[in-house]
Amino acid sequence: MDNHHPSPHIALLTGAGMGHLTPALRLAAMLSSKNCQVTLITPQPPVSTAESSHIAAFLAAYPTINRLDFQIVPYTPPEPTDPFAVQFEAVIRSVHLLTPLLASVSPPLSAFFSDITTAAGGHQVAEDLGLPHYVVSLSARFSSFVAYVPYLIGSDGSIDFPPLLPIGPFEPHKLEIGDHKPLPWLDQQPPKSVVYVSFGSRTAMSRDQIRELGKGLEESGFKFLWVLKAKIVDKDDNEGPEEIVGDSFIGRTKHNGLVIKGWVNQEEILSHPAVGGFVSHVGWNSVMETAVRGMPMLAWPLLGDQKVYAGLVEAVGLGVWEKSWGWLGERLVKGEEIAKMVKKVMCDESLRESATIIGEEGMNAIKVGGSSYKVLMGTIQNLSI
Ligand code: UDP
Ligand code: UDP
Repeated sequence: MDNHHPSPHIALLTGAGMGHLTPALRLAAMLSSKNCQVTLITPQPPVSTAESSHIAAFLAAYPTINRLDFQIVPYTPPEPTDPFAVQFEAVIRSVHLLTPLLASVSPPLSAFFSDITTAAGGHQVAEDLGLPHYVVSLSARFSSFVAYVPYLIGSDGSIDFPPLLPIGPFEPHKLEIGDHKPLPWLDQQPPKSVVYVSFGSRTAMSRDQIRELGKGLEESGFKFLWVLKAKIVDKDDNEGPEEIVGDSFIGRTKHNGLVIKGWVNQEEILSHPAVGGFVSHVGWNSVMETAVRGMPMLAWPLLGDQKVYAGLVEAVGLGVWEKSWGWLGERLVKGEEIAKMVKKVMCDESLRESATIIGEEGMNAIKVGGSSYKVLMGTIQNLSI
């Protein structure tokens, strides 16, 4: 950026859950590293321990980013529902409290960014403050789906969907957080021999499905690193791995697998040369973190927007998807089916080649002069004028 224009000051309202917090923090770091002043608005209290610890570690690592804690009004839905969705609603219902806080920040704001889940509230704040509003959506694929919704629901389609700024893959940031236990174990394994298994930060499988998954991993014959999750919110998840998969499973597979319970540093694992494939729920962050490393995935979409991403993963040649498995809980996916797909993702050389090309394309997009770099810099320039 040239020196004649002041740096833009951007306020960024985060959503809820790690899948939404992670890209918001990455974008905040990218903007800050390109001379923008950034105020990160963190709704309080967050839902999970993972969110609190990541926000604290992030702000310690990026001291020039301002923190604005935003005390939200608690909201109780008429019926019990997903705690992260309750938080989205609580944030949206509380934004009238945010406007006065932001009106007096110095230097004045240039733009207001909000996570897609809180965008309805963010739009209101931006309008009240007379600021441009940018919505941080996870993926262009999901945005195009959202853009199509008015047509699907039969309106006249007259919404002027805002312009899309394709920025990504987001650059990772190194936060010293999570259980590093897998690393010494991975260090002892041959290159590309281990399949990594994780379903993100907020998806818990039934005991029956966990048992079948264990059978499948064992039957596949591949080494595995399996991150177990038994409850949606980490604060409620207190059992050890042996209580969930059983001592005998842990004993039988101790030379072939490592079962971890709790938060791991996923990017550290995906970067390890011993890891050769990923069995994933294809949360968008997981997809991008795998794509930039050119690693094949077994897409097992479980809920929400994940089938949109599974379709994309399959179409571009980053991974495979067995559609008959359905949504989480729709049917019990048997161990032998899982073993077959794990072998496929670990052994298919043409899949590995196409995944490698995707990794190269991702790295090209974010380097200086790449497509993502150009859009990001152009956006910042516009806000500086
Ligand atoms: N993640 C991690 N360690 C864990 C679980 C998740 O680092 O033990 C990270 C993962 O790398 C990703 C994010 O948390 O950046 C999860 O987002 P994603 O969109 O993949 O799935 P979600 O958790 O929203 O379902
Ligand atoms: N989403 C949305 N509005 C909402 C809730 C979710 O637009 O009120 C979007 C969200 O951005 C994501 C998808 O729907 O792309 C699924 O979100 P969810 O939080 O259910 O799953 P996650 O991404 O955390 O795995």
